[in-house]
Amino acid sequence: MEKIKMTTPLVEMDGDEMTRIIWKMIKDILILPYVDLKSEYYDLGLEYRNETNDKVIFDSAYATKKYGVAVKCATITPNADRVKEYNLKEMWKSPNGTIRAILDGTVFRAPIIVKGITPYIPTWTKPITIARHAYGDVYKNTEMQVEAGSKCELVCTDKDGNEIRQTIHEFGESGGIIQGLHNIDQSIGSFARCCFNYALDTKQDIWFATKDTISKKYDHRFKDIFNEIFEAEYKEKFDAAGIEYFYTLIDDAVARVVRSEGGYIWACKNYDGDVMSDMVATAYGSLAMMTSVLVSPDGTYEYEAAHGTVQRHYYKHLKGEETSTNSVATLFAWTGALRKRGELDGLSDLVNFADNLEKATIKTIEDGIMTGDLYLLSNLENKKKVNTEEFLLAVGDTLKAML
Ligand code: NAP
Ligand code: MG
Repeated sequence: MEKIKMTTPLVEMDGDEMTRIIWKMIKDILILPYVDLKSEYYDLGLEYRNETNDKVIFDSAYATKKYGVAVKCATITPNADRVKEYNLKEMWKSPNGTIRAILDGTVFRAPIIVKGITPYIPTWTKPITIARHAYGDVYKNTEMQVEAGSKCELVCTDKDGNEIRQTIHEFGESGGIIQGLHNIDQSIGSFARCCFNYALDTKQDIWFATKDTISKKYDHRFKDIFNEIFEAEYKEKFDAAGIEYFYTLIDDAVARVVRSEGGYIWACKNYDGDVMSDMVATAYGSLAMMTSVLVSPDGTYEYEAAHGTVQRHYYKHLKGEETSTNSVATLFAWTGALRKRGELDGLSDLVNFADNLEKATIKTIEDGIMTGDLYLLSNLENKKKVNTEEFLLAVGDTLKAML
């Protein structure tokens, strides 16, 4: 069989620990035999980050801006233990944080659904994709504990030195707490555009919710910016694609989400996204079945698994013990990136290959072959637990039978 040709490279960001082992297996067993892979390789493994003083992260992010598509392996975010373990020059920052800041992107997280693993909310038969605004609000707040008798005011000094002053609260007999939050129109606008673009890209409705009835200036500004951008730039495209933008209050959204069957994107303010993404991920069953894509407002895409480097399995692997680590989310990061590359470059055989590889993965699990984490959750009668490599080989067999 002739290998599928690519015209433009995708950016390949290698990573750490067990996911680095899986990364190579996925390429060797499921990608390289079928695709004449063109990639620009960056080693984001902690050792090389330390060697380059993190420069390799910046290089990989700028390459992503240049080529438009990246696939990333999970990476260690160093803490004090890791500084010792890897003898680091510094406690380097989170690679994901650095890449996100350079691409100014929004992260979309979606579960991969298979028969045999029923979500805790069994009516959720389609994925719910969560988009979290990753700037400001309570994550960049100023707060104080204040004494009884304090008068607290909100003061804004404009560029000409004029002051606007409003009382927050006059504390009487009891002291208390106050908090100052902010957000930026430009960041809210970027978030809105990322969300609308991704909705068009994946042909799904998009929901957004705030508490604008109570927060008549702050939350209302989010609602207005979303609405203005939608009306001016996206309404016609949404009509043509047959999808909808739906705005409601956050409490109404929560109630509707629980009653829904899924199949839409839920855009959340920063705190709502923090909380709701954990609820949604848990309800779908397994972190190992969550994919994640960082989308920038100018349309670059970086795909990855939502989980970490699976450190505990890696230490077993190093001791020569057998592991049964789930590679599905990392594999779907690869298929997501290959499909996007194919779409951007007009390569229908690359798009078809990505689709088939995803179908083969799901079919393998639905036929009862799965890693230990899914084995514990699956309600299939005939199921078999396999090790890390056996699973990928089984997907390869399913794929060969399909092609
Ligand atoms: P983790 O790697 O997500 O793993 C936590 C636990 O979840 C594992 O021990 C395992 O449970 C289960 N698990 C996660 N993914 C799995 C998979 N693919 N297959 C089977 N089981 C899976 O989180 P962590 O151990 O807290 O973090 C390890 C490292 O990852 C840290 O250094 C952290 O900085 C990094 N991290 C990176 C990213 C990223 O790059 N996006 C995200 C999160 C964390 P059992 O042990 O019970 O089997
Ligand atoms: Mg959270």
